[in-house]
Amino acid sequence: MDDDLVAAFSANLLSKSYVNQGAQSLRAHDKVFARLLANRRMLGRGLNDVAIEFLVHKLSVMDSNNFIDNVGVGEREGRVFSDMVRRRCYSMTHGIGRSGDITAEQPKACGSSAAHALAQCMARDALRLAGMRDLGKRALVLPLATGMTLTLVLSSLRLMVRNSADGGVDAAAPNVVIWCRLDQKTCVKAATCAGLEIVVIEPVLNGDQLDTNVHAIERAIEDVGVDRLVAVVTSTSCFAPRACDDVETVAKLCEKKNVAHVINNAYGVQSRVLCERVSKAWTVGRVDAVVQSTDKNFMVPVGGAVVCCGKRNEALVEAVARNYPGRASASASMDMFITLLSMGEEHWLRLLDEREKLYDYMHAELSKVAEEEGERMLRTPGNPISMAMTLSCARGISPTMFGSMLFSRCVSGTRVVAPGEVKTVGGIEFHGFGASHSAYPETYFTAAAAIGTTRADVDRFASVLRKTFKDFKKKSQPAAA
Ligand SMILES: *Cc1c(COP(=O)(O)O)cnc(C)c1O
Repeated sequence: MDDDLVAAFSANLLSKSYVNQGAQSLRAHDKVFARLLANRRMLGRGLNDVAIEFLVHKLSVMDSNNFIDNVGVGEREGRVFSDMVRRRCYSMTHGIGRSGDITAEQPKACGSSAAHALAQCMARDALRLAGMRDLGKRALVLPLATGMTLTLVLSSLRLMVRNSADGGVDAAAPNVVIWCRLDQKTCVKAATCAGLEIVVIEPVLNGDQLDTNVHAIERAIEDVGVDRLVAVVTSTSCFAPRACDDVETVAKLCEKKNVAHVINNAYGVQSRVLCERVSKAWTVGRVDAVVQSTDKNFMVPVGGAVVCCGKRNEALVEAVARNYPGRASASASMDMFITLLSMGEEHWLRLLDEREKLYDYMHAELSKVAEEEGERMLRTPGNPISMAMTLSCARGISPTMFGSMLFSRCVSGTRVVAPGEVKTVGGIEFHGFGASHSAYPETYFTAAAAIGTTRADVDRFASVLRKTFKDFKKKSQPAAA
């Protein structure tokens, strides 16, 4: 802050030495802001809430609806009826982007646009810190969750593939994605909602684990034909016993065959192993876009996703930014902006480390329970986040009852899977739905060592699990005479 203000203060109100000290603090806060603008990276250490609010308010007064003398006579003037809603968004009510491009500056909202741009810079840096190498220039933060973002990515890709087809091809021709089966309805709907047909590639069973069937992908590319293909879609983070897809080999295959490759990295940012595999994939082969959830990786409310790519192939990410129709809510990027400022590099790295240790801890604790109960952990070394324990005791009896017993004891997030479920999603019939395989032999449940989970969570989970096994066995066994 300004020397004249200091002078004015000390002349009339306060003693100079105190004012100087206060002014120093103001300058220190401004310096943090300047550093952020200059480095476009996460801060080394996170900021406290006062400092963040100071920064957010500074940005907020740069938006036209907050100009002191503003008179708005247009139809979009950032008018907000409820004061509570206004507070909820720090009076930044204009959103981001404009009709041309989600990353374009919103002319009425310089501050919101700056927050969005900085959120994207910090998000890109967070991906780098998590282990992604050779990132492209831009990590897009979109106000859509993972599934809708995949829809937007695939729609943009379809336009690109169609426009690049050199004549002769029917304009509507490319409309097929080859998708490595992952039993989460969103993944299917992400493609069907984009108007695409899905060729499902079932994983192969290797011991307990489900691995990518690369040969089947290659055959499918040949069968469908490159002219009709929009992309191959693989996934990294998924429920055990499915493993992370062999994204490196698929990337090489896609490069060789000249087919686009989209990676669903929904909650993979939190795993160094998965980040490493994603960056290896875009180094050795073709990757057009990688989509990750903001809530699952960065501990923010649901509502956003980050789209990134390697520096060898940035065309699709740019196209997605351009194709976004209209303005967008700033909520997702504000949540990221605030959260990443508050975390800083130090706390982000600590969370990533702690998660890795928590995986080992959860696996060890669940192994103990499994042994006591005559069950076992499924061997899934290719999945660094999710793990699965057999539920042989529930086989053929009532596996869903086990799940609801856990749920009624306030354990959420486990998922019980039994063979034989048939489900139609997006018009496609899946056998053995839930397992990502039509004939997975085990009944099991899954749990995830996800970012933010604590040892106390694991301890309580193990304890509830023991009780649940006991009650379940009592209930499901015929009463003793
Ligand atoms: C969570 C998740 C999705 C769906 O994400 P939304 O953010 O709810 O759209 C899709 N795929 C995978 C692998 C997921 O984990």
